[in-house]
Amino acid sequence: MLILGIDTSCDDTGVGLVRLEGGRPEILSNLIWTQEVHSRYGGVMPELASREHVERIDGVVSGALAAAGVTLSQVDVLAATHGPGLIGALLVGLMYAKGAAQALDRPFYAVHHLEGHIYAAASEAELEPPYLALVVSGGHTHLFDVPRAGEYRLVGATRDDAAGEAFDKVARLAGLGFPGGPAIAEAARRGNPNAVAFSEPLQGQKGFEFSFSGLKTAALLASKAGATPEDLAASFQAVAVRSLLKTSVRAARHLGRDTLVVSGGVAANAALREAFATSGLRTYFPPPGLNTDNGAMIALAGAAAVLAGRPASPLSIGATAYLPLASL
Ligand code: ATP
Ligand code: FE
Repeated sequence: MLILGIDTSCDDTGVGLVRLEGGRPEILSNLIWTQEVHSRYGGVMPELASREHVERIDGVVSGALAAAGVTLSQVDVLAATHGPGLIGALLVGLMYAKGAAQALDRPFYAVHHLEGHIYAAASEAELEPPYLALVVSGGHTHLFDVPRAGEYRLVGATRDDAAGEAFDKVARLAGLGFPGGPAIAEAARRGNPNAVAFSEPLQGQKGFEFSFSGLKTAALLASKAGATPEDLAASFQAVAVRSLLKTSVRAARHLGRDTLVVSGGVAANAALREAFATSGLRTYFPPPGLNTDNGAMIALAGAAAVLAGRPASPLSIGATAYLPLASL
């Protein structure tokens, strides 16, 4: 079975193809068009993002099909992100996939963007619930308990900034450029993680929340006091990773879970991966290229929906900007 997945939730046009032959799904192709137009504004301009998706989507779909060596008529299932994200951007990928499903008379699955991020790890491992899922991306720092496939219970989330947002902001104030995550990771390799004394956020909390805005303020003060960008990057990365790790491990113990999936853009971070490897939990990460937004993760989530016997989505389904995966 061939599944095509589309993500246009923000400023990347992502299309991926996945083959499902029973067992673990195989990624055949994963093409991402990243929009450059926003860099001159210092942030994503929603209206420009929608227009770029409209111009690019056809080419990215054709490219992903060609890279997989298949044609559109061979696709058995279509999947696309329906939320959360920028509404006009989401609509482009959603309408494209619904249109193709209608034309080909194939089932369509609407996928939650965060479920896509979680299933990005599914080509590496059998994601057998129960497990904990930590999504650390540009807009989310959410810890979910997944007792059964497709069921998500929010265990904790950030009180303020998302982890990726904090990496981006600290990189900007340290003059390290954009996107901040990779820039911090690179600079951190030449810095001293003990040079700047950050205090760990929410120490001693009973719950499982995260907080990054205090670290951002502390980084600004340390920068003004003369800390080098490298030391700042290394020290910030170390405390951010430590906080994510400690809270996740505590939650796993509390809930009796021994498996953890870490996904989203920040899960690409090498120091984070090394630290989580020592957690004592069975920890799974998405493979390279599947941490940040892409279409293959949406196809993988679509494959999981098919495997779980979930009914296809109605073609009347719309895009939703604010769409929680679970509530406390
Ligand atoms: P969301 O999924 O919450 O809507 P998003 O889709 O914009 O947000 P992603 O594409 O999953 O977010 O991730 C982007 C974020 O990941 C950025 O904040 C970026 O700085 C961060 N990031 C990417 N690579 C790394 C890295 N190596 N280390 C740390 N952070 C990273
Ligand atoms: Fe994302």
